[in-house]
Amino acid sequence: MSAFLFDQDDPARRGEAHGELWRAEIAELAAIRLELTIAKSAMRTADEVLRVAAMHLPILEAYHPELAAEFHGIARGAAIDPALLVVVNHYTDLRDIPRAVLGGEGAGEPEDGGCTAVYIPGIDAPVLGQTWDMHGTAAPFVRLVRIRPKSGDRELLAFTITGCLGMTGINQDGVAVTINNLTSTDARVGVVWPALVRAMLEETSAAAAHQRLMSTMLSSGHHYMIADGNDFYGVETSGQLKVLTQIGARAAHLHTNHCFDPVLRQREKVATTSTTFRRYDLATTLYVQQRPQTAAQLWDFLCSHEGYPRSICSHVDDANGDPSMSRTCGRMVMDLTRGRVLASQGCGQENPAEVYTLDRWRGGPAPEEQEAAT
Ligand SMILES: [Zn+2]
Repeated sequence: MSAFLFDQDDPARRGEAHGELWRAEIAELAAIRLELTIAKSAMRTADEVLRVAAMHLPILEAYHPELAAEFHGIARGAAIDPALLVVVNHYTDLRDIPRAVLGGEGAGEPEDGGCTAVYIPGIDAPVLGQTWDMHGTAAPFVRLVRIRPKSGDRELLAFTITGCLGMTGINQDGVAVTINNLTSTDARVGVVWPALVRAMLEETSAAAAHQRLMSTMLSSGHHYMIADGNDFYGVETSGQLKVLTQIGARAAHLHTNHCFDPVLRQREKVATTSTTFRRYDLATTLYVQQRPQTAAQLWDFLCSHEGYPRSICSHVDDANGDPSMSRTCGRMVMDLTRGRVLASQGCGQENPAEVYTLDRWRGGPAPEEQEAAT
């Protein structure tokens, strides 16, 4: 997997380059996600899905005009309706939105997909990483993007799928964000969540990224891990609530796809087919056995086939042949004190880590490297 560079200063041009580069893939993924949304959400037709999707566009424009310009650039470059691009970006949240927003009745089926996210303090070298478990048909669309505008001093590396603004990533200051999907019963029309991820990655500290999250009008539930090597925040959200459930950069943190917070548990609906509780148990047990301390060790942890096919590197769809069931489509591990990222798409056992470095890194070397240098 190579990291695709987008170095345009103008967000609209950047988006157009993205859309043109992956025009065929974006159209294909949009068709898959539109069909899945009709099947799994409260909306009954493509027209209903697109009407609800379109309601997100003015909110994105008001939330972040530059990201909205990039978003519309992607749609132009790919030659698709921006509302359909909302379906590509916001699929998991869109599924949760009740049909009441159209004046109708009904709610979606809970999402069975998920992710496993882990933060480790390491030996003075914190690392944050996650698997991306999606409908197995998403696997060919996974990409790593490097956004490094020619002017200025900013850069980010993000794991994404074609057409999407970004799903998880790290910036030049070592601010990193991971996501776990949560299925909320209080979902609403709100900020398209990949735009929130990108907005958080514009901040120069985890504290500021956390503030950005707390001031954003969300659409449905996620768990966000936000870290910068000095601070760590784990925030569970539903469509309408946000709760800081994990804090402290010196402890390890694990999360899958169910809420820890008792209030939020009243607003979530975990699919009976979800592997979230099993993966959490597995991850907890494996963590105790392996005690990963480095990016390489966390990589091995996230690639584990222990308990296959319902393993951390998940192959649930192999077990029952349903392509809408989740499987691990890729993973990303971010070394917060070195500006290095490990990533691969597909199964972690078949696709070893490739290493990427932030060119404009200013997060500083790990303490032992500083000592070695002096
Ligand atoms: Zn695997």
